[in-house]
Amino acid sequence: MLSPLALFGILVVSCTMSVAILGSLRRTAVPGVVRWCAAYALLAVASSAVLFAGDRPRPLAIVCISFITIVAVAVLLQGTRQFFGMQPTRRAESAAFAAAFAAMVYFTCVLPSIEARVVCLSVVLAYGRIAVGTLALRHARHAGARYAARFVAVSAWLGALSHLARAGAVVFGLVPPVTFVQPSPWNIVLLGLAIVSSPCMSIGMVMLAHDQLVRRMERLATIDELTGALMRRAFMEKAGARLAEARETGTALSIAILDIDNFKSINDSFGHAVGDRTLTHFGSVVLGQMRGCDLFGRLGGEEFAILFAGTRKSDAAALTNALRLALERVPDDGVRCTFSAGVERITPADTLEGAMARADAALYLAKAMGRNRVVTASEVDVPGIAAPR
Ligand code: GH3
Ligand code: MG
Ligand code: MG
Repeated sequence: MLSPLALFGILVVSCTMSVAILGSLRRTAVPGVVRWCAAYALLAVASSAVLFAGDRPRPLAIVCISFITIVAVAVLLQGTRQFFGMQPTRRAESAAFAAAFAAMVYFTCVLPSIEARVVCLSVVLAYGRIAVGTLALRHARHAGARYAARFVAVSAWLGALSHLARAGAVVFGLVPPVTFVQPSPWNIVLLGLAIVSSPCMSIGMVMLAHDQLVRRMERLATIDELTGALMRRAFMEKAGARLAEARETGTALSIAILDIDNFKSINDSFGHAVGDRTLTHFGSVVLGQMRGCDLFGRLGGEEFAILFAGTRKSDAAALTNALRLALERVPDDGVRCTFSAGVERITPADTLEGAMARADAALYLAKAMGRNRVVTASEVDVPGIAAPR
């Protein structure tokens, strides 16, 4: 049969492995990972100390082990908050942890009581795990992170259950004091539960960090940093998928190609940095104004595209014109920025490229007509909306 000290040996190994795995994520700068890593290192130290102290630990060893364990719980919880973008420390919580440590010292050195110590440390461990599990569930909004968050929550709550059972058993006198190193079947079960849940929690944390990295990479590969628009490749892929959907459902689709007017002269007059800022301003106005169902992409340089979902050409031209007016209303630090656009309907028989080429031709007509205007590719269902200059 497994002895409690052997279980602590397993805990040392599993915590060390957690440190190695979480440590490998350190240079990814995922928030909270450094604290998670430090917490598992502290738990490895505390469990090693339990092993070395044996079943009759000296008061100093008990105080040191309690201190390291409480700090580990606090740091693990702080890391979890940091990961989810929250302020890691809470003043009241730190005070409660300090009070728990003071109680451990009191029940070790002043009024020695195994029962009180077991209850106190079990409550701290249970609180830390319940809080980690609850945070993980509450903040797992992204579909990709949901599995990892549930994994962390179940592991953490399983561990919390074992700690609460230990504290409850002592408080209600169900069994003789179940200390952490007692070789009773009760203790083996409770310890086993806590020890299994600990590496599971760290595996869940690695999954959470991994999911965040994947989302970060996806964003880097699909979103243009300067304007917030989809990059050309991502836009073409998504627009292609929308076209395939529209062919099946028979819904209307329209596309607008937008090009900022005389952008070279903005660069030449004010410098490239101001040009970049103008692009950012343009992106924020468009994104702030456009509908959530539409796609906004940067085709290159100062040329953009908007795919209007379920929208006829005339409505798409009106929406593009509304964007044009919105951009005119909000000048960026005095730098006047306007755009010209060509709008075209995408028919079920069309290729995306074909419709874009026609929209592009309309854009060039808009430029030739004096810029700062929206022109539709054909004059069939709506005339070009010309802006008064
Ligand atoms: P038009 O009204 O005919 O479109 O004239 P334009 O000056 O806007 O067009 P042109 O194609 O002559 O110039 C586009 C300029 O956009 C040239 C290029 O250096 C600049 N540009 C492209 N990408 C960026 C960028 O990311 N940042 C900055 N600051 N400038 C860029
Ligand atoms: Mg231009
Ligand atoms: Mg251009």
